[in-house]
Amino acid sequence: MQVFKFGGASVKNAHGVRNVAGIIQQQNSSQLLVVISAMGETTNALEQLTWAYLRRQADTDTFWQRIRANHEQVIQELADGDTSAFSQVYDLFAEVESLLQREPDPYTRPDQVYDQLVSYGELLSTRIVNAYLNQMGLDSYWVDARRLIRTDDSFREGKVDWKQTCEYITDSLAELLNSSVVITQGFIGSTREGYTTTLGRDGSDYTAAIFAYCLEASNVTIWKDVPGVLNADPKWFDETVKIDQLTYQDAIELAYYGATVIHPKTIKPLQNKHIPLYVRSFLQPQDYGTVIGNFEQRLPISSFIFKMNQTLISFHPKDFSFIAEENLSKIFGQFAEYGVKINLMQNTAISFSVAVDNRPDRLARLLAGLQEEFRISYNEGLELITIRHYDDRTIERVLVNKKLLVEQKSRYTVQLVVKDLGTHGL
Ligand code: ASP
Ligand code: MG
Repeated sequence: MQVFKFGGASVKNAHGVRNVAGIIQQQNSSQLLVVISAMGETTNALEQLTWAYLRRQADTDTFWQRIRANHEQVIQELADGDTSAFSQVYDLFAEVESLLQREPDPYTRPDQVYDQLVSYGELLSTRIVNAYLNQMGLDSYWVDARRLIRTDDSFREGKVDWKQTCEYITDSLAELLNSSVVITQGFIGSTREGYTTTLGRDGSDYTAAIFAYCLEASNVTIWKDVPGVLNADPKWFDETVKIDQLTYQDAIELAYYGATVIHPKTIKPLQNKHIPLYVRSFLQPQDYGTVIGNFEQRLPISSFIFKMNQTLISFHPKDFSFIAEENLSKIFGQFAEYGVKINLMQNTAISFSVAVDNRPDRLARLLAGLQEEFRISYNEGLELITIRHYDDRTIERVLVNKKLLVEQKSRYTVQLVVKDLGTHGL
């Protein structure tokens, strides 16, 4: 059996839904499970809605009406005058509206409220795609991923209970997949108590991997708006090259360092069961794309990953002690507590530096706990460049017009923290 995953960009409007439906229809009408994200920018819009609701802002309803109108527009275009096939989408609208009518419960954590609301993006998109497939005469079956993906109660970053999840998935789907295409949501799950959880932003790829792992799929395809895995993000680089074959190891490293093409958690479960992962273009579905799997040959060309808006923080112990286990464990403890991911770290005898994504609120709270013992210096507005399979020439190429602050090399990877000098620096 196969797993397909379609991201938000692929279903951002009626044209997109028709295209996705066409790709699904090309396949056999069974042994296919399709994981779909929320349409276009819906998740961002639902986040805004959640914060407005929690702060009881007067414009809460305006945020919601915009989201609802976007979905209704897609339905109108797909329905050809008769929207009856889409009635379950309207049921979901009613659920959201009844939730928004209630006062926010002061005893429920904001992250929990977030998950209850933001999960509607995926519920809506999958209901729409499924209704459209049925309208086309394809016998697809909509499944609620919250019944199958069991997580703990870390809202907004639910940790998957693999054993329970695999049991639910195989029990409910193994049989069903013999007769139908199954349509389900990425990104969402639920706790033992039945509260909806989400798996972290961009988590739909991970959902696809969970289903594939539990069902021992023969392969997974992530359908994207790029032709495959490229050696750099075209946003930052003019000449990009598509990589035809990638080892799991290289794919994990690239994703871990911030290549946004695949969610970093996706690959390990697939690697464990030797399930190949295809990355293909939903715009050119006939093209081959990239395959990630067990290959001998490592990455054939250098790959570049750019992370913008980085902050470099350096800690210097005030008591003149060296950087060692004890003060490192204090520093790491704070990072873990505030959930701030370290993108790069480096130490000398008397200082310890990290590069992190710039999230001022969180960082301020994190650093408050360390200020007494450490002198802390702070450098904002930087870039972190990672090159996998680097050489001197590739390093020179990315350093043009940049000031280098930190360089860290391992056998296959170099990471550079730089400041862009802009055109004035020339
Ligand atoms: N819709 C979710 C997000 O935008 C999950 C995903 O797209 O993978 O983060
Ligand atoms: Mg998305």
